[in-house]
Amino acid sequence: ASFGYRDVEVEAKQGMVDEVFHNVAKRYDIMNDVMSGGVHRLWKDAFVSRLAPPRKGPRPFKVIDVAGGTGDIAFRIVERSGGHARPTVVDINGSMLAVGRERAAKKGYTDIDFVEANAEDLPFEDGSFDAYTIAFGIRNVPRIDKALSEAFRVLRPGGRFLCLEFSAVDVPGLDKIYDLYSFNVIPKMGKLIAKDEDSYQYLVESIKRFPNQERFAEMIRQAGFSRVSYTNLTGGVAAIHVGVKI
Ligand code: SAM
Repeated sequence: ASFGYRDVEVEAKQGMVDEVFHNVAKRYDIMNDVMSGGVHRLWKDAFVSRLAPPRKGPRPFKVIDVAGGTGDIAFRIVERSGGHARPTVVDINGSMLAVGRERAAKKGYTDIDFVEANAEDLPFEDGSFDAYTIAFGIRNVPRIDKALSEAFRVLRPGGRFLCLEFSAVDVPGLDKIYDLYSFNVIPKMGKLIAKDEDSYQYLVESIKRFPNQERFAEMIRQAGFSRVSYTNLTGGVAAIHVGVKI
C-alpha cells in the first residue's frame, strides 16, 4: 500500500481529531451549550425538522447518523418520528460513543445502534438506508470526498442526504463579531471549562478552513447527489445542505 506524503498528512489529521474528541468527550455536551449559548439545540431541531422522519410506515425508517458522537441527532430523530425511525449512530471515536450509549440508556432508547467506524469507509452494504445525516462532523473528516461518496453508496435510491455544518457568515458586521468570538473567546472557554485550549483552537480553525456554502454544495453534486440545495441558519454561522440519490 502506498503511504506517501499525502497519506501521512491525512493520518495525522484524523489522529489529531481523534485526540480532540477523546479529550473533550465527557464535557462535550455541556461545552456545546456554553459556547453556543444553547443555539446548537435550535440548529439541531431545525435540522431534524428538515429530515422530517415519518411517524408510520410498513417498516422502520432507517437513518444513519454519521459522526453522531453523543447522540444528539439520533435522539431527536427517535422523538420526532414517535419511535418509528431506527437510527444507527456511527462515530470513529469510542469515547464519544460511550457517552452516547450511556445517554441512550438513561433515556430508555433501545432501538439505536452505535457503531464505531470511519465515515470514509462505512461497514454497510450499498442501499442500506433511507436517510443519511451528519451534523458538525464532515468538517473533521480528512477526505470529505470519500465521506460523501460513502454517503451516496449506503443510501437507497430516493434516499436523502442531510448535512448540518458551520459555514460562511453572510451578514456584514456579524462576520466580524463571529470571528472575534470564535478566535478569542472559544479557545479561552475551552481552557476554562474543558481544560483544553488546543482542542478548541483546532475546532475554530477547522471551521475557517471548511468550504463555503456554494463550494460544499458543488462537492455534494460531485459525489452524485441531485437536487442539492442549502439553507443558512443564523446568518450562515451554520448551514443545512440537502441532496437526493436518484
Ligand atoms: N453529531 C454530533 C453533534 O452534533 O453533537 C457530534 C459532532 S462532533 C463536533 C464531531 C464528531 O465527528 C466527533 O464525535 C468525532 O469523533 C467524529 N468524527 C471525526 N472524524 C470522523 C470520521 N472520520 N468518521 C466518523 N466520525 C468522525
